[in-house]
Amino acid sequence: MLMRVAQIGSGTPEIAVLAGVHGDEPCGVRAVERLLEERPTVQRPVKLVVANEKALERRVRFVDEDLNRVFPGDPDAETHERRLAHRLVEELEDCLTFSMHSTQSYADPFAIVDGVDETAARLCPQLPVTAMVETENFAEGRLMTEIDTIEVECGQQGSESAAQNANRLMRAFLTAVGVLPGDTVSRDLPVFRLTDVVPKEPADTYEVFVENFTEVEAGAPFAAADGNEQVADEPFYPVLMSPYGYRDVFGYAAEKLEVLESPTAAD
Ligand SMILES: [Zn+2]
Repeated sequence: MLMRVAQIGSGTPEIAVLAGVHGDEPCGVRAVERLLEERPTVQRPVKLVVANEKALERRVRFVDEDLNRVFPGDPDAETHERRLAHRLVEELEDCLTFSMHSTQSYADPFAIVDGVDETAARLCPQLPVTAMVETENFAEGRLMTEIDTIEVECGQQGSESAAQNANRLMRAFLTAVGVLPGDTVSRDLPVFRLTDVVPKEPADTYEVFVENFTEVEAGAPFAAADGNEQVADEPFYPVLMSPYGYRDVFGYAAEKLEVLESPTAAD
């Protein structure tokens, strides 16, 4: 039992929804399970994948190593996640994939893409997200390096609102790509590009003083390790920044690029 794969609708799917890349992020799994129970009538087939069942069962981020850092994986690897990564790539190869995550850093949903291509620019403004983040140089080992992927952060890990957001985001995505019938609402979307990782020193306690997606001014203290403050050399936008979300880093620094204007609404 490496992962769970299901399908709604007949034919070969070009669209996939992916949940449970991280085992301690149950929001997407609930959305997928709910969709499978409801079995809505679809206009084109969709593949549904729950990835790291072993980690989900244990309620841990991963069993051996972070799945979203080991793509493309290897069928003969020693670690569970590297083998799983290889299988996932085989399974998702021909699909535009919508991958749901949750974080310890920020409650509002946002989208993460490798780069802003035509697909991302068209679809992301139709999702109920507050921002789009380009990972660009920080995508190594992520699913999006192998598969055409839109990732969404649905909210705070384990929260009821993250589960509700996952459900709303997934349905908006499936509507935008024509799996589910109906219309989406478009909104203007600010785009950020990751520029740096923000490392953290080994310490017992960590603090973050700033809000994600809100500019930090040069000279402002933004985080602390065991009470030692870290001060911004240059202005930046914090993204995915939290005291304990990652082991070695607080999160990322980003620059703000542009605001994608929602296309003129169709009548
Ligand atoms: Zn995740």
